[in-house]
Amino acid sequence: MSQERVLLGFDVGGTKIGIGLGTESGKIIGSARIPNVDTYPEDILPKMVSESKRLVAEAGMDISQVSAFGISVPFPADAVNGIMTAPTNNKKWRNVPILSYLKEQLGIPGCFENDANCAALAEWFFGAGKGCQNFIFLTQSTGIGGGIIAAGNLVRGGGALSAGECGHICVELDGRQCNCGMKGCYEAYAGGRAIANRIREELACHPDTAILKFADNDPEKIDMVAVEKAVRAGDAYACAIWEEMSLRNAQAMGMFINIFNPEKIILGTLAWAVGDLYTDPIKKHLPKFCWAEPLAKCEIVPSALRRDIGSYAGIAAALNYLKENA
Ligand SMILES: [Zn+2]
Repeated sequence: MSQERVLLGFDVGGTKIGIGLGTESGKIIGSARIPNVDTYPEDILPKMVSESKRLVAEAGMDISQVSAFGISVPFPADAVNGIMTAPTNNKKWRNVPILSYLKEQLGIPGCFENDANCAALAEWFFGAGKGCQNFIFLTQSTGIGGGIIAAGNLVRGGGALSAGECGHICVELDGRQCNCGMKGCYEAYAGGRAIANRIREELACHPDTAILKFADNDPEKIDMVAVEKAVRAGDAYACAIWEEMSLRNAQAMGMFINIFNPEKIILGTLAWAVGDLYTDPIKKHLPKFCWAEPLAKCEIVPSALRRDIGSYAGIAAALNYLKENA
């Protein structure tokens, strides 16, 4: 084996749990997947341990040679104690002390981190954030998750360790209802799920929109792929929706630029899947929402890890744990 440190990463999702064994330079040595639909934690946690040990053994190592593990989990959660309190995608997982369980069973140090923070860490160590001391990562997917790296550190905040919830800043007083309970959140205007819901609500006023055609004429199938196709086809309603999304993206990113003066804003799914059609209108609107000096020093770039980001999430969290506890 090389002299490089080896890390174990867990990516806990609503439909599967990804396990990755990788080096600190980003080489994935082994990976496994555990289906996680409608499961009980008492069935899944032991599998996470046995699969991890199997990957380590297949790499010709002992678990004691793994420097640390990291668990990437959806929030809200009890970040202080490493407990999955009530994950929305898995109703049978309630108050699961996943961090202490894995520490005990694997016998190595580990950490528990918000999945968007983990994605930011993955871009920092292995992707578009390499070499940066200050950047913001935004997931730009069904929701808007965020992770902040400032002055060379992951920003977690104080008592709740909830910093980086970039999607839930209010951009419109008494605006659209957000899933989080607030009204007018950035995510309610720019998250893929919220946009699709809005289009479904407004379909009666736009029955001929090309969005519906690109969704097989099934309102339930409306998604950002259908919206993008309709925009490219010049559909007026789709273009209006896109313009508002772009304006809200710029509004939120402008705030982040003035507050953090980031070297980069790194954008997830929609930015790399759609390309310039996604980022160009944001860049066009940004001067309305932040100062020229920090804007000139901020690059708006897509994720470099793209759909592989989950494979690096837990490994990056483990690496950051070692960095913080060196
Ligand atoms: Zn919200």
